Formats: sequence, C-alpha cells, structure tokens
Amino acid sequence: MQPEVIIVGGGIAGAMLCFELSCAGVQVRLIEAATRPGSGVSARSFGWINAINSDPEGAPGLFALRRDGLERFAALNQRCGGALAAASAGGSEGALLWQANGALSAALRDKMRVAGYRVDLLQPAQAAGLLPGARLPDLALHVPQELAVRPAHVCKILLERAVSQGAEVICGQRVDAVATRSGRVTGVICDGRLMASPQVVVAAGLQSRELLAAFTDPGWLQASSAALVELSADLAPFVPVVRTPDIELRSVGSGRFLAVTSAPDPLNPQAGKAVAQAQVAALQDLFPEAGQVRAVAVQTGQRALPADGRPRAGRVAAVEGLYVMVGHPGVILAPVMAASLCDQILGRGGVPLSEPL
Ligand SMILES: Cc1cc2nc3c(=O)[nH]c(=O)nc-3n(C[C@H](O)[C@H](O)[C@H](O)COP(=O)(O)OP(=O)(O)OC[C@H]3O[C@@H](n4cnc5c(N)ncnc54)[C@H](O)[C@@H]3O)c2cc1C
Repeated sequence: MQPEVIIVGGGIAGAMLCFELSCAGVQVRLIEAATRPGSGVSARSFGWINAINSDPEGAPGLFALRRDGLERFAALNQRCGGALAAASAGGSEGALLWQANGALSAALRDKMRVAGYRVDLLQPAQAAGLLPGARLPDLALHVPQELAVRPAHVCKILLERAVSQGAEVICGQRVDAVATRSGRVTGVICDGRLMASPQVVVAAGLQSRELLAAFTDPGWLQASSAALVELSADLAPFVPVVRTPDIELRSVGSGRFLAVTSAPDPLNPQAGKAVAQAQVAALQDLFPEAGQVRAVAVQTGQRALPADGRPRAGRVAAVEGLYVMVGHPGVILAPVMAASLCDQILGRGGVPLSEPL
C-alpha cells in the first residue's frame, strides 16, 4: 500500500517522527540506508537531554526549545515505562555540575532561577552522595530533571512501537533522490525505482543537504564535529551526568564511562590519542582513587547545524509536500521537531520552528 508519508533517515529525528505519526494513525514508511536504525551520528551521541548547556539570556529561543525537548522526553520516557533513560539501557538521571569557582557556579544557578529553570545548590556532603569518591568543589549544582539516553536504544524502542502501530521500517535501503513533478513531491527514488508517496520528510542528518540540493541553497546546513570517548575505570557506576570545567562524563554500565569533547572529524591516530589521553587524565583527576583508567574507543561524528541556529522542522518552500527535519542539538530537539512536523503534516496548525527552507 502506498504510504501517506515517507521519512528518509532512521536516526533519532526520523525515529521520533515515525513514532509520532504512527500514534496519530498515519500510514508511514521510514527508509534507512544503514542496516540498523540509529547507527548514524545518533550512535555517537553523548545523549544528554539538557537545558543547562544553553543560555536563557543570550539565546532565549533555543533555551525554551531545549526545555520543551526535555519535558517531552521525560513524558515519553514515562509513557515507555522508564525504558528510555533506565540505567540498564545506558541512561542517566539528573546532572551534577560546577564551574571554575563557587562564584561562577552561584551565578549560573541565579541565571537559571531567573529563567524559571530548577537548579539546586549542593554542599560537598550532598554532592558526595551523588558522586562518591570524586574530588568535589565547595559548591556544586544539581539539575534533577535532566536525563541522558542512548539514542540508538531510543530509536530501536520507538521504531518497534511504531511498527506495532502499523508503520513500515525499511533498513539497508539508500534513497537516491526526492522525486517531484510540477512542483509537487511524488515520492523517493531508490535503485532507480519510484517509491510513491504524497508527502516526504527528509530527516537524513547532514546528508539532508545533498538530498535537498536540487531545491535549496546548500549553505543552509553546516557540519560541526565532536568526539565521544569510551573509558573503562575501576570505579562504581554513578547516576547523574557530570559536567566539570575539564570533562563531561556519564556512567554507562559497570566500569564503563562516556566522555564527550570537541575534536576534528576525521581524527588522525595521533590526534585521537591526544583526545583520549586528555579524557583519561580528566577522569583520573576527578576520581583520584579510580585505579586503572583506559580509553577503550574514540569515535567522532559530524553534527548537522542549521546555519541560522534554528532547528528546521517544516516545509521545503520550492516543493509541495516536501519537508525537512534537522536540528542541533538533535537528540534534545527531536521530540519538539517531531511534534511540530506531525501537526503541520496533519494540518493541525503546527507552528513551524523556522521559515520554510
Ligand atoms: C560526539 C557527539 C556528542 C553529541 N552529544 C549530544 C548530546 O549530548 N545531546 C544532543 O541532543 N545531541 C548531541 N549530539 C548531536 C546529536 O547526536 C545529533 O544532532 C543527532 O543524533 C542527529 O540525529 P539525526 O536523526 O538528525 O541524524 P542521524 O543520527 O545522522 O540520522 C540520519 C540517518 O539518515 C540516514 N540516511 C542518510 N542519508 C540517507 C539516504 N540517502 N537514504 C536513507 N537513509 C539515509 C543515515 O544512515 C542516518 O541513520 C552529539 C553529537 C556528537 C557527534
């Protein structure tokens, strides 16, 4: 049967939209080039669902969208019985952080309080309860509502649910082009054949630039690289995401930890070694009793950044029925973009998050 909507890309963006559309009873088909969903940039993501890393004064619009994303993720996690952010699924709950000194930490907390965002001040004994064995400052901040997820796991769960609600998920099939006739989308081209659909959503991360090149100026999307470092250490697992001036870290299972840092992509072996060593040193500094700390793997990924900083979840102006779904930070914003697009596609008056592309 011809689907009402084809989604190109099974990362966190495409998976979230597929789930939402299937919940709304839409006949949807998701096409993913890789053999498994969630194996693009989403597989290399730190997966921290937060608003604390954004500035409510400098970028109030993005701050509000990130808060909305966090609230929607928390609600979705509840709908899924906690399975998205469970520690057993590589998730974390709450965030513990501090700035270079107590005055800066207090100022950050005050700024967030003015914005109505909950951040608690913790004394060292309280922080030690959340992060045993760590070298802690006199003043730490706790953001209990924040979460971290393993995006590939979230994609899997959402797509399983979508399929059980009638969605079709095709993996291992690359979409070569978007098909149009007389300014209207007619479907997508795969292996020289048309897969017909009256509506197509391109949610292909950075590859969205190529797929939409015939209809848009390619300057709308830029790449920004980052590295995910997997560490092993003789250290008990901890619950919150941790951000210090030297490391962003979370626990993902017994003796296994993830750290995120900026780094060029691709990394040459020497640069990769330097990135790994810096994270090992930062973890050892944070946990002086950690025993042997090793970097197990360093993976880099290209984050897709719309040039105007706004997530793109709306129409491609040149083609009727064609939509795009790309934003940064893409995990946090996926539920917000999916809700907006779902409403636009269903004609429920969804507010586009940006001007048509
Ligand atoms: C190291 C690192 C840490 C990060 N940490 C965070 C974080 O803490 N929080 C956060 O919110 N974000 C974070 N990000 C960013 C976030 O991971 C991305 O924004 C998000 O995963 C993008 O999801 P996506 O679905 O848009 O893209 P992708 O995950 O790249 O998915 C796109 C999919 O489309 C498929 N595809 C591409 N072209 C085609 C085609 N022609 N036909 C069919 N399929 C196609 C690809 O195979 C891929 O699976 C991080 C990124 C990196 C690299």
